[in-house]
Amino acid sequence: MNQLTDISTIREILDRHGFHFSKSLGQNFLINPSVCPRMAESCGAGKGVGVLEIGPGIGVLTRELARVAEKVAAIELDTRLLPVLEETLADFPNVSVIHGDVMTLDLPPLLECEFPGMDVVVCANLPYYITSPVIMRLLEEDLPISALTVMVQKEAAVRICAEPGTRECGAVSVAVRYYSEPEILFPVSRGSFMPAPNVDSAVIRLRMRPDRERDPEKRRDFFRVVRASFGQRRKTILNSLASGLALPKQEVSQLLENAGIPANARAEQLTMEQFSRLAAEIGKNGGTV
Ligand code: SAM
Repeated sequence: MNQLTDISTIREILDRHGFHFSKSLGQNFLINPSVCPRMAESCGAGKGVGVLEIGPGIGVLTRELARVAEKVAAIELDTRLLPVLEETLADFPNVSVIHGDVMTLDLPPLLECEFPGMDVVVCANLPYYITSPVIMRLLEEDLPISALTVMVQKEAAVRICAEPGTRECGAVSVAVRYYSEPEILFPVSRGSFMPAPNVDSAVIRLRMRPDRERDPEKRRDFFRVVRASFGQRRKTILNSLASGLALPKQEVSQLLENAGIPANARAEQLTMEQFSRLAAEIGKNGGTV
């Protein structure tokens, strides 16, 4: 079979299967031949490593992953792509395609069954309409995954990987950094896809932090603080927290002082350490939030 990045090959396969792109499922397939090998190389796939892919499309990235990984399991929601994948992945016995929605499938037993005894990483060109929910689900569920290497819209990449204390930092940047160490690996232009989207993309890698917090109560306090802090980002941290947590200003003022945070700071100026101290103060306060 010709390269799956070759436009006439893609058209021939899709026409034969009567397939039409669905915008609502975020279907923009990669046609730039250099991107998939680069993703496969950076995601940590190798001998003894299983790769979970989300949204294989016609299998262009899946094939690159299967060349280097021990095993690939690819979750695809669109039933129309299943016969296509059967054809394009016929030469790769180490791939299993799972029909389902990544947001609702029960992932812990799936990973256990697909990747027994293997290290697991995620590698995907994510459907853009659910980028953040998918990433947050994979980070929050305490899955046995060591890294996520995913293609997202360029603006989302900047937000997700923004350092606390910078203007781009938002609730999602802090949430991602709570669980992982994010980095932007390389940009991908809109012309690398068929059909071409209106925006450019970037590949990012999130390496899971081995020391991430696992206590559900501490996590809850942390995320309540983060949500409230960024709820009204133009306000001072004192005002955002007082309204977001429905607490008297005096009480919030004391919590901020105990955590060593100036009351007139803005959420995007706070460090991870300061968010953690604030969450700990609120926890000590009996979790009044
Ligand atoms: N990996 C292919 C590539 O790079 O050419 C396709 C990527 S395309 C951006 C996103 C893929 O995710 C599509 O195949 C789409 O059908 C699939 N998809 C959309 N929503 C999904 C969901 N909730 N669960 C699993 N797959 C989904």
